[in-house]
Amino acid sequence: MSSKSEILIVGGGVAGLALATRLGKTLGRHGKARITLIDKSFSHVWKPMLHCFAAGTVQNENDRISFMAQASSHNFEFWPGEVVSIDREKREVVLSPLHASDGSKVLDSRTMTYDAIVLSIGSRANDFGTPGVLENCLFIDNLVEANAFNEKFRMEILKSFADNSELDIAIVGGGATGTQLAAELHKSLEIVDPVSLHAFGKAPPKLSITLLQSGARILPAFPESVSMAAQQELERIGVNVRTSARVAAADPTGFTLKDGTHVPATLRVWAAGVKAPEVTKTYGGLSLSRSGQINVKPNLCSVDDDRIFAMGDCSYIVDDPLPATAQVARQQAHHLAQHLPAWLESGKEVPSCIFHNKGAIVALGNYNGWAALPGGRVMGGGMLHGLSARIGHIMLYRQHQIELFGWIRGLASIFADMVETVIRPSVRLD
Ligand SMILES: Cc1cc2nc3c(=O)[nH]c(=O)nc-3n(C[C@H](O)[C@H](O)[C@H](O)COP(=O)(O)OP(=O)(O)OC[C@H]3O[C@@H](n4cnc5c(N)ncnc54)[C@H](O)[C@@H]3O)c2cc1C
Repeated sequence: MSSKSEILIVGGGVAGLALATRLGKTLGRHGKARITLIDKSFSHVWKPMLHCFAAGTVQNENDRISFMAQASSHNFEFWPGEVVSIDREKREVVLSPLHASDGSKVLDSRTMTYDAIVLSIGSRANDFGTPGVLENCLFIDNLVEANAFNEKFRMEILKSFADNSELDIAIVGGGATGTQLAAELHKSLEIVDPVSLHAFGKAPPKLSITLLQSGARILPAFPESVSMAAQQELERIGVNVRTSARVAAADPTGFTLKDGTHVPATLRVWAAGVKAPEVTKTYGGLSLSRSGQINVKPNLCSVDDDRIFAMGDCSYIVDDPLPATAQVARQQAHHLAQHLPAWLESGKEVPSCIFHNKGAIVALGNYNGWAALPGGRVMGGGMLHGLSARIGHIMLYRQHQIELFGWIRGLASIFADMVETVIRPSVRLD
């Protein structure tokens, strides 16, 4: 292969930005390959924090990483745009035209060539075709959606202040996203409570949160003991947890369950299921899983094309599927960062990516948290009030920051965040 191979990384999320940064340091810096990251947005956020942005308990100015800044300091290129199709014969990708927020066109549709592509375009919640969900529910799958939810949440709180009404929120999906969102929303209103007495002269309206889970228990990916403890914790703070509650339809007033019950909700959030973005269907006829993810071999290479790799949530290892988590996405990015250089330089096949399960962590606001460690051990909960598990959850993000920025800037960012918590209100109020 030529000494200046073109590697396109499509999607700068948990996996894509880690890979671009690492390959920039190895191949890019030594001029051995041209590494280009393409993302439909201009900045990266750590997706496992979106529920905190949605609830306003973390404010995101400091948590966005500019792709351009990261590219310029780490020897890769960045182009904004959505990859809408791949021509595998010509080895070209097509980026859709780029528009400004006022709708005016900034860039025409563009074509870029490649020697290798790594697809890391993430996933979305899956409405499973349930009637009324797309029209009547909010999603928190990206920063735009999390911010839109937060604005709606603040406006509904204001309305409830004005007419002394209760605010009903129903969240569909008792996985980590829905469960953590329920706790975070509750925490948010607890913080507003003392503020509101000064700002409006009265206590805030009552918040009613219902968590709807189709399965028999919440957090099905965790040991049963964690599910039970998390449900008890949510119920203790006042969240109404309904298991075996399958949603049949959504409408502007709430959800209708399969058994005919109607759950009223002013704000309706859909946080269930995982599917790849629809656009994978136009990616050169690559074979896809039932959820639209790109079918890959254990070495993350597409089953159809040796020059196309996929990692993170948008990939599906046909022989041994893995869950859509940040931990999997990061390990896969590290694997490709380690082995793609030899593949490019000498054609050495990328070996299988072996996933090392380091456990799973769930944090319910500042109420409690659990880490399910490999080997069935569970940490957190009970006497420690989950502090160690909650710290573990934060550490995942801090590790990611240090990986992207290096130690000095990484630690400086952590310090800046700590300063922010002192100088800003602890919940977003504007
Ligand atoms: C609210 C929430 C909480 C979560 N909590 C946890 C947790 O506690 N622990 C955990 O392990 N996991 C958690 N997850 C899951 C975790 O965030 C994902 O598994 C992880 O982000 C997957 O990384 P990724 O790189 O595959 O995709 P992402 O991080 O989603 O990145 C995808 C990127 O691709 C870009 N993109 C999409 N389509 C295109 C296109 N066509 N062209 C160009 N760019 C495109 C997007 O803009 C984005 O930057 C949570 C998810 C959510 C939504």
